[in-house]
Amino acid sequence: MTQENRITAATPAWDKAGWRAYPRVQMPDYTDPEALAAAEAQLRRYPPLVFAGEARRLRDQLAEVAAGRAFLLQGGDCAESFGEFSADNLRDTFKVLLQMAVVLTWGAQLPVVKVGRMAGQFAKPRSAPTEVVGGVELPSYRGDIINGFDFTPEARIPDPQRMLAAYTQAAASLNLLRAFSTGGFADMHRVQSWIADFVGGPEAAKYRDIADRIRDAMAFMQAAGVNSDTAHQLSKVDFYTSHEALLLEYEEALARVDSTTGLPVAGSGHMIWIGDRTRQPDGAHVEFCRGVQNPIGLKCGPSTTAEDLKVLMAKLNPANEAGRLTLIARFGAGQVGDHLPRLIAAVRQEGANVVWSCDPMHGNTIKSATGYKTRPFDAVLREVREFFAIHKAEGTIPGGVHFEMTGKDVTECTGGVRAVTDEDLSDRYHTACDPRLNASQSLELAFLVAEELRA
Ligand code: PEP
Ligand code: MN
Repeated sequence: MTQENRITAATPAWDKAGWRAYPRVQMPDYTDPEALAAAEAQLRRYPPLVFAGEARRLRDQLAEVAAGRAFLLQGGDCAESFGEFSADNLRDTFKVLLQMAVVLTWGAQLPVVKVGRMAGQFAKPRSAPTEVVGGVELPSYRGDIINGFDFTPEARIPDPQRMLAAYTQAAASLNLLRAFSTGGFADMHRVQSWIADFVGGPEAAKYRDIADRIRDAMAFMQAAGVNSDTAHQLSKVDFYTSHEALLLEYEEALARVDSTTGLPVAGSGHMIWIGDRTRQPDGAHVEFCRGVQNPIGLKCGPSTTAEDLKVLMAKLNPANEAGRLTLIARFGAGQVGDHLPRLIAAVRQEGANVVWSCDPMHGNTIKSATGYKTRPFDAVLREVREFFAIHKAEGTIPGGVHFEMTGKDVTECTGGVRAVTDEDLSDRYHTACDPRLNASQSLELAFLVAEELRA
């Protein structure tokens, strides 16, 4: 029996619309059913954004991560927005991710699987359904795919047409990312020269030694006579997209049947994940995600119980396939020791095959003295270090990292070598949702994680 057949035989029937019968949270109540039906019908006619074979390939690469033979780098915006959409923004984020990947490849001495929070990361779970500003209460902003950021009653009404705009933006983004990945832009030698520029500045001098060692390794490969095949390999990269599968009307409309395997696949992105607020084992989000063959991420926060995790692993990965399920730990600095060991124990008791990844962003959000939602660079780094230390002590594999970051020089997280202070936050605070690491902070973090991987 093939692995695919086993899944079908072992699991209850699944239909892409089946989630509708389950309790849902964090999703909008559209007020105009006809407008919603029209937008869904339109999306169903559009082509999928990704091909199922690509999602399977990512799953295979994540299986290598699970086995400790590759390392996962996942990163991008907290929330993509219509307003910030531009070729320059895409290029800059992609550029930083490539640099981080080269540094991490050196650190891990392993291939790095590169996954963007891009081309689909539009829908946001919120901690409260409404927001109060100056005594006025309005529904919360839920991401550009659902409603508008402006604090007006009109903007906050969920509009199904936004799904079509998000689809179009995702398609154009993916088109450019594919061109960057294979058209020469991502050439390893260029990436190495960008890294050299970063460490050339006075603040990042402490990372110059690592940058020199990366340069030397590449010079060696060249001198040793990489053949044209390898040279070709170095000039392009595999790059995948991912987002939180929050807006299930959108996900359902883009779900397709893979013509190769006959199995359902989410056509909205290569990898989708379930957020910390929508991972109820009997909820709509888990129901949808269990049926598509894409790699699935599952955010695990302090409130994740071992019992729930066991049920979720059985539902989301009944055949225990390597690369299918990535557990994204997001506990907060100082809290990893309280939670990760008990969840590692649950995974071990089940003999479950998972990738462990570390999201050091979502457990470390604070309000600055100047009133901004921010994340201190030091806390982010501390959580990564705790994650590595616990995996070392447990004899398990720290498979990857998951960051909210941008290629722009924003001031949203504090700290880093080009220190952003509480007072600086107001300068270039552009995020539509959570604070992101800027380009310099992102690359610096990659250097520090690389040191950790070498330790
Ligand atoms: C996110 O990744 O933007 C997010 C909301 O994360 P979490 O579900 O872990 O809070
Ligand atoms: Mn976020």
